[in-house]
Amino acid sequence: MTDCLFCKIIAGEIPTSKVYEDEFCYAFKDINPQAPVHILVIPKKHLASVDEIDCENSIYVSKIFQVIPSIAKNAGLLNGYRVVSNCGDDACQSVKHLHFHILGGRQLSGEMA
Ligand code: AMP
Ligand code: ZN
Repeated sequence: MTDCLFCKIIAGEIPTSKVYEDEFCYAFKDINPQAPVHILVIPKKHLASVDEIDCENSIYVSKIFQVIPSIAKNAGLLNGYRVVSNCGDDACQSVKHLHFHILGGRQLSGEMA
Protein backbone atom coordinates (compact mmCIF):
# COMPACT_ATOMS: atom_id res chain seq x y z
CA MET A 1 0.00 0.00 0.00
CA THR A 2 1.71 3.15 -1.17
CA ASP A 3 -0.05 5.57 1.19
CA CYS A 4 0.37 3.48 4.32
CA LEU A 5 2.80 4.85 6.92
CA PHE A 6 3.86 1.44 8.18
CA CYS A 7 4.31 0.03 4.65
CA LYS A 8 6.65 2.99 4.04
CA ILE A 9 8.55 2.12 7.22
CA ILE A 10 8.93 -1.49 6.03
CA ALA A 11 10.16 -0.21 2.65
CA GLY A 12 12.80 1.90 4.40
CA GLU A 13 11.26 5.17 3.24
CA ILE A 14 10.74 6.45 6.80
CA PRO A 15 13.47 6.03 9.43
CA THR A 16 12.71 4.26 12.71
CA SER A 17 14.55 2.89 15.71
CA LYS A 18 14.42 -0.71 14.55
CA VAL A 19 14.79 -3.40 17.19
CA TYR A 20 14.05 -6.53 15.14
CA GLU A 21 13.31 -7.66 11.58
CA ASP A 22 12.78 -10.95 9.80
CA GLU A 23 10.95 -12.30 6.74
CA PHE A 24 7.54 -11.81 8.34
CA CYS A 25 7.74 -8.77 10.59
CA TYR A 26 9.46 -5.55 11.53
CA ALA A 27 9.69 -4.15 15.07
CA PHE A 28 10.60 -0.62 16.09
CA LYS A 29 10.30 1.83 18.97
CA ASP A 30 7.06 3.80 19.13
CA ILE A 31 7.67 7.47 18.34
CA ASN A 32 5.37 8.52 21.20
CA PRO A 33 6.10 5.99 23.96
CA GLN A 34 3.42 5.39 26.56
CA ALA A 35 5.69 3.34 28.81
CA PRO A 36 9.47 3.15 29.37
CA VAL A 37 9.52 0.40 26.74
CA HIS A 38 7.04 0.78 23.89
CA ILE A 39 7.71 -1.26 20.77
CA LEU A 40 5.52 -1.82 17.74
CA VAL A 41 5.59 -5.09 15.81
CA ILE A 42 4.10 -5.02 12.33
CA PRO A 43 3.59 -7.71 9.67
CA LYS A 44 5.43 -7.27 6.37
CA LYS A 45 2.11 -7.72 4.63
CA HIS A 46 -0.43 -4.93 4.63
CA LEU A 47 -3.39 -5.94 6.77
CA ALA A 48 -5.52 -3.05 7.99
CA SER A 49 -6.23 -4.47 11.43
CA VAL A 50 -7.10 -7.58 13.43
CA ASP A 51 -10.33 -7.62 11.42
CA GLU A 52 -8.39 -8.72 8.31
CA ILE A 53 -6.66 -11.73 9.84
CA ASP A 54 -7.73 -14.96 8.13
CA CYS A 55 -6.52 -18.48 7.37
CA GLU A 56 -4.41 -17.24 4.44
CA ASN A 57 -2.46 -14.58 6.30
CA SER A 58 -2.48 -15.71 9.92
CA ILE A 59 1.05 -17.08 9.49
CA TYR A 60 2.17 -13.45 9.91
CA VAL A 61 0.42 -13.22 13.27
CA SER A 62 1.76 -16.59 14.35
CA LYS A 63 5.31 -15.61 13.44
CA ILE A 64 4.95 -12.27 15.23
CA PHE A 65 3.83 -13.95 18.45
CA GLN A 66 6.69 -16.42 18.18
CA VAL A 67 9.23 -13.56 18.29
CA ILE A 68 7.49 -11.20 20.73
CA PRO A 69 8.97 -12.92 23.81
CA SER A 70 12.54 -12.49 22.59
CA ILE A 71 11.90 -8.90 21.46
CA ALA A 72 10.54 -8.18 24.95
CA LYS A 73 13.42 -9.90 26.74
CA ASN A 74 15.99 -8.11 24.56
CA ALA A 75 14.33 -4.82 25.54
CA GLY A 76 14.83 -5.70 29.19
CA LEU A 77 11.26 -6.69 29.98
CA LEU A 78 12.13 -9.47 32.40
CA ASN A 79 9.25 -8.85 34.80
CA GLY A 80 6.35 -8.88 32.35
CA TYR A 81 4.83 -6.80 29.60
CA ARG A 82 1.56 -6.12 27.81
CA VAL A 83 0.72 -6.83 24.15
CA VAL A 84 -2.08 -4.70 22.66
CA SER A 85 -3.64 -4.30 19.23
CA ASN A 86 -6.14 -1.51 18.71
CA CYS A 87 -8.76 -2.37 16.09
CA GLY A 88 -11.04 0.27 14.64
CA ASP A 89 -12.38 3.62 15.76
CA ASP A 90 -13.72 2.68 19.18
CA ALA A 91 -10.25 1.39 20.07
CA CYS A 92 -8.60 4.58 18.70
CA GLN A 93 -6.61 2.75 16.02
CA SER A 94 -4.69 5.58 14.33
CA VAL A 95 -2.56 3.66 11.81
CA LYS A 96 -4.52 1.30 9.59
CA HIS A 97 -1.78 -1.32 9.27
CA LEU A 98 -2.02 -4.17 11.77
CA HIS A 99 0.38 -3.67 14.67
CA PHE A 100 1.01 -5.03 18.11
CA HIS A 101 2.17 -2.74 20.89
CA ILE A 102 4.63 -4.21 23.41
CA LEU A 103 4.46 -2.11 26.57
CA GLY A 104 6.45 -2.44 29.76
CA GLY A 105 9.33 -1.27 31.89
CA ARG A 106 7.17 -0.23 34.83
CA GLN A 107 4.15 -1.52 36.72
CA LEU A 108 1.32 -1.07 34.22
CA SER A 109 -2.19 -0.08 35.17
CA GLY A 110 -4.60 -2.88 35.96
CA GLU A 111 -7.16 -0.97 33.90
CA MET A 112 -7.09 -1.92 30.24
CA ALA A 113 -9.73 0.47 28.96
P1 AMP B 1 -2.54 2.91 17.23
O1 AMP B 1 -3.03 4.19 17.87
O2 AMP B 1 -2.85 1.66 17.99
O3 AMP B 1 -2.96 2.84 15.78
O4 AMP B 1 -0.95 2.98 17.27
C1 AMP B 1 -0.19 3.65 16.32
C2 AMP B 1 1.12 3.95 16.96
O5 AMP B 1 2.04 4.31 15.95
C3 AMP B 1 1.07 5.12 17.96
O6 AMP B 1 1.45 4.66 19.25
C4 AMP B 1 2.07 6.11 17.38
O7 AMP B 1 2.82 6.77 18.38
C5 AMP B 1 2.94 5.23 16.51
N1 AMP B 1 3.62 5.89 15.41
C6 AMP B 1 3.07 6.70 14.48
N2 AMP B 1 4.00 7.09 13.59
C7 AMP B 1 5.17 6.51 13.97
C8 AMP B 1 6.51 6.53 13.47
N3 AMP B 1 6.84 7.24 12.37
N4 AMP B 1 7.46 5.84 14.13
C9 AMP B 1 7.14 5.14 15.24
N5 AMP B 1 5.89 5.06 15.75
C10 AMP B 1 4.92 5.75 15.14
ZN1 ZN C 1 0.56 -0.94 5.32
